[in-house]
Amino acid sequence: MSEDQTQSIDSRLAQACHYIDEVTGGVNPPLQLSSTFARDENYDFIGDYSYGRNGNPIWALLEKICADLDGGEAALCFASGMAAVCTLFETVNSGEHVAAPRIMYHGAQDWLRRIAERRGIGLTLYDAADPADLERAVEAGKTAVVWVETPVNPTWDVIDVAAAAEIAHAAGAILAVDATVSTPVTTRPLELGADIVFHSATKYLNGHSDIVAGILVSARADARWEEINEVRKLTGGVLGPVEAWLLLRGMRTLALRFDQASRNALAIARHFENHPALERVLYPGLESHPGHAIARRQMTRGFGGMLSLLIRGDADDAKAIAGRTKLFVRATSLGGVESLIEHRASVEGPMSAVPPNLLRLSVGIERADELIDDLERSLNREQTP
Ligand SMILES: *Cc1c(COP(=O)(O)O)cnc(C)c1O
Repeated sequence: MSEDQTQSIDSRLAQACHYIDEVTGGVNPPLQLSSTFARDENYDFIGDYSYGRNGNPIWALLEKICADLDGGEAALCFASGMAAVCTLFETVNSGEHVAAPRIMYHGAQDWLRRIAERRGIGLTLYDAADPADLERAVEAGKTAVVWVETPVNPTWDVIDVAAAAEIAHAAGAILAVDATVSTPVTTRPLELGADIVFHSATKYLNGHSDIVAGILVSARADARWEEINEVRKLTGGVLGPVEAWLLLRGMRTLALRFDQASRNALAIARHFENHPALERVLYPGLESHPGHAIARRQMTRGFGGMLSLLIRGDADDAKAIAGRTKLFVRATSLGGVESLIEHRASVEGPMSAVPPNLLRLSVGIERADELIDDLERSLNREQTP
């Protein structure tokens, strides 16, 4: 496998970084399902693997490709995005401190609140829309991890990764970026100064809504990274080989899917920007979005497929609109080929800080005109024939 960084991310993705099976010439990796690996008569392992919780050849391939895409020294795959997030935060000690956005992926924030309470870890939530607030949130010498999600769920505020890296490093912390929504196609946080990148690979990387998986990529294979690797082995949040195989297959079309989703989302955002049934459309690709200037710099190839509609009305009105769509599927999650609509506050529950009139859209790869038509009819209370 070559790691020719001079080739485009499109070509590297399409060919899984030039993967050819050394034994058979197969253009896809074999699926090694064994949970244990034999030793020879001298009690040495026959290959590079010992036990299924510690390693599997398909992880090695997947991790090499993920490290390549984000420009890191090493990557690790996990049983879910949350398994990756939890493993990273296992390396934060009692008495240390974490800064994270006030509105962000709710599961990750829920976990941070729990460990803050149980383990005596400080937690400060900052306003993702206000760059000065992050500076106030960090505590020099105490903050261990600054967590950034960009664009952030479900307002799609854009956080300046390079500026966040400076703030984190000045305080002696690492910067970890949840890049699930931007993907390495449009943003590579390590190149902007981040130390660790996280992806819920359940979403765009896989792209077909048929597996749950997580990825961490590290700028450096340093002591913290070794600790993360050890914690993964010990806590066992490991990715099944079949899921790893499916993820590798899904990733081959990531660039194509991401570009189409970005085009569709921009078309939808522009179409509905001044719609009378809406208060606002939140999409970083719109000039009216407060994060647009940073997004133009930081999202080098499109603004992605995620946007939110703030409807004129309450939670029931929002749910009624979602209830009328015929092409958008009413479901949570994001980044699949099929377009999804969800009433985010209902999904997050009573603790949610998400406005009750917000509908979150994950725009897929269908035709933009048909998606627009579906939303128009739903907003205008028309039943699709
Ligand atoms: C889905 C998601 C996660 C959690 O990942 P899982 O694969 O569901 O465990 C974290 N962050 C973001 C932005 C997500 O969309």
